[in-house]
Amino acid sequence: MPRYCDVAVPVPLDATFTYSIPEELPEPCVGGRVIVPFREKRLCGIVTELHDREPSFKAKPVQQVLDATPALGPELMQLGRWIAHYYIAPLGEVLRTMLPLSAEFRRATGYRITDKGLEALHAASTVGSSRRAKVEPEQQMREYAALNRLADGELVREASLRASAGASRAVLVGLLRKKWIAREDLSGVRDASRNIQVATLVARGLKPARDNNQELTSGTAEGVPLQSDAPSDGTGESAAESAQSPNERGPSTPATKSGPPPLRMTTGLNKNQQAIVDYLRLQAEQRAHVSAIRELAVPRTTLQTLVRRGIVAISEEPASFRVSGMKPRKLEFLFNPAQRAALDQINIAVEERQFLPMLLHGVTGSGKTAVYLSAMQAMLAKGRSAILLVPEIGLTPAMAADLHQIFGDEVAILHSALTDDERAEQWRRIRSGDAHIVVGTRSAVFAPVPDLALMVVDEEHDHSYKQDETPRYHARDVAVMRAKMNHAVVVLGSATPSLETYYNASQGKYKLMELAERIEQRPLPEVEIIDMRAEFRDAEKGEVLSRRLVAEIGERLTRDEQVMVLLNRRGYSAFVMCRECGETVQCKNCAISMTYHKREHGLICHYCGFKRPAPRTCPKCGSEYVQYLGTGSEKLEHLLHGMFPQARIARLDRDTVRGRDDLERVLSALQAREIDLLVGTQMIAKGHDIPNVTLVGVVGSDAALGFADFRAAERTFQLLTQVAGRAGRGETPGKVVLQTFFPEHYAIQFAAAHDYRGFYEKEVRFRSWMHYPPFNAVSNVLVRSPKLDEALAWSGLLGKWFAATRLEGVRVLGPAAAPIVRLKTEYRYHFLLKSASRERMNNALRAMIEHALAQKIPRTNLVVDVDALSLT
Ligand SMILES: [Zn+2]
Ligand SMILES: [Zn+2]
Repeated sequence: MPRYCDVAVPVPLDATFTYSIPEELPEPCVGGRVIVPFREKRLCGIVTELHDREPSFKAKPVQQVLDATPALGPELMQLGRWIAHYYIAPLGEVLRTMLPLSAEFRRATGYRITDKGLEALHAASTVGSSRRAKVEPEQQMREYAALNRLADGELVREASLRASAGASRAVLVGLLRKKWIAREDLSGVRDASRNIQVATLVARGLKPARDNNQELTSGTAEGVPLQSDAPSDGTGESAAESAQSPNERGPSTPATKSGPPPLRMTTGLNKNQQAIVDYLRLQAEQRAHVSAIRELAVPRTTLQTLVRRGIVAISEEPASFRVSGMKPRKLEFLFNPAQRAALDQINIAVEERQFLPMLLHGVTGSGKTAVYLSAMQAMLAKGRSAILLVPEIGLTPAMAADLHQIFGDEVAILHSALTDDERAEQWRRIRSGDAHIVVGTRSAVFAPVPDLALMVVDEEHDHSYKQDETPRYHARDVAVMRAKMNHAVVVLGSATPSLETYYNASQGKYKLMELAERIEQRPLPEVEIIDMRAEFRDAEKGEVLSRRLVAEIGERLTRDEQVMVLLNRRGYSAFVMCRECGETVQCKNCAISMTYHKREHGLICHYCGFKRPAPRTCPKCGSEYVQYLGTGSEKLEHLLHGMFPQARIARLDRDTVRGRDDLERVLSALQAREIDLLVGTQMIAKGHDIPNVTLVGVVGSDAALGFADFRAAERTFQLLTQVAGRAGRGETPGKVVLQTFFPEHYAIQFAAAHDYRGFYEKEVRFRSWMHYPPFNAVSNVLVRSPKLDEALAWSGLLGKWFAATRLEGVRVLGPAAAPIVRLKTEYRYHFLLKSASRERMNNALRAMIEHALAQKIPRTNLVVDVDALSLT
């Protein structure tokens, strides 16, 4: 057995650390997790090397070995090293990001009462306890509550102790200090004892409820007749009452608490309840993991309602219990020749196990998704694996339900709303080869599938693929690298490819496949540009909505068609200004104007979330002339209500969409034509396919063109093209009314003409002149500190170093105040590095970090963002 191992620990240091391996421990493995001491802490790290080279210092011993086989196999370890190198990120932090098992370690702590603790508990309960209890402070009360919970001497998990005895961290620390309790480590034992929840359909008539009295966790198996709209407060009385309603009744079976009356399936289920029942019916033995049901497009409460009514039972099963579920279903798509050609290319390359990066450039509505799904089905049929990445907002519960329908239990879905436990469970399913198809947002690029054959990055231009904390990787670029390492195919799909990707295709680095037509040859929408400068001159008073757009909206509404209006700014008024002194109300944590939100009766900072009441007088001069200026989506909704009082209007932005279900609810209402007019931010632009939307209005979404961000034109073009693509996806042709203050700008002109190629040619020339991507690599170096003098001094030090070092082939701009100079209480200064040679740039960055550490600039105060997308 090797005597030492090198471990990548999740700390912001660009190094691995050597530990000795005690003889009594099992042998660790490369890619496996170990617990090691690190500066007073115990951390979970990944072994990167096993060896016998004696270090020059006395190595501390590994405390625990968590994995007998690698948690990260050689392929993912190699990918992790590449990410650490390319993005100049600490390897330990990269590997932690790739391995979503932190919950298992974090929660794997338990407590046991000590003899001393038992004595204390005994003393407290015998000596004058009644008198003492009154004067005992809160903390002491809680300590005794926790001791009581531990009184039988059993080991109790920290989570359970917190939940059942209300033991806060302070309470536990207090007890440990007095040595009344002892902490024990549970890592490694947890898996075996872990339970999962399984839902079983128990309604009679569908399937006999077998053994249900033993398995069920609640007494609800005694069913009551079903009723579609029965009040669901869970009491037997109301259920019995509802059973009396005329339309729906079993043969006179009032619900009683004694004896299970026959439970009959009725037709009275509502849509959501029916969806769950249908899903369970399709499963083997009509049982499924509760986590799988949560993927269906229904609110969580629906399952609880079904349990209360005795239609579904929930039981706990050991984690090893397997629910064998739905079989994949073969979908037959009807492809046009362009789709067919793309698919053939993918299949040939996969067959030959060739690395093939492909850009699938298809106009909105051209059927890219059908190509992805069909290609993924082909991989599954071959017994190989595929990963589909989708942008944050693209993964709705409805899409998840569709994927379950197509791929059955072979699909694992990873989205940001999963709990740590759910994520770990999905990870294990993928790892064990139970799920060959993975669909997920950014971090799904690390899914540990066996025999990866295909990666698809849908909407590859989307900025949510770039992580905005360490490691700042771009999932699209990681996907390309991972495909290369695996001799696999990677498909980047978009109607508006990023400049970088299209450039790679034009250089022959990526295979370009074009889908130039919408399916069924539906026309792209006609776009009318409204010059808002002229509108303000001609109209009697300035309005947010042009007369033309108002007229067009009115026309659609009378024809019973649906309308979307994009305004890419949430809130009611963009800012609050004093007319006397010109002061705008700024956030106390950020150098940013606060936005007025009417429903919340206050000002909110969109960067840090800080809230304050709306001021009646100017906070600076006390004047009463305070003005609310600029229009956000909340105000636009209000204005439209005033203009079209008959219309059913809804709004889609981060204020109305808090969870995945909210987005789903609005979209299905729109689909069901329960909404006439949808107002929203860029959320409405992304991928939704609503056939009856025939008009899209674009209001004030060109503001970015006024900023000095070199990606502003690209972003504006992408947003306008995507939102225009929502119009006319059904049989009626669509129209777009685009209001702008920059009618001559090429981003506007090319978007209106649906001319991606034209936009690309123009933009790529500008990028070339300015030495921006795709011609140069760009990195942003941010120096931040809550103290202004520190931020200034440190950025000054680095500025001097850059000037003195004269890095060949690397341009350095800065230091300069960051566009948002203060954010979340931190002052921020930055440098922009550009170089035609990525190697030179990354070497320069490494040398700079070394210098910064020598100058005692803490690594966490220095942010290095390679291939930065945002310079704010
Ligand atoms: Zn003022
Ligand atoms: Zn703020």
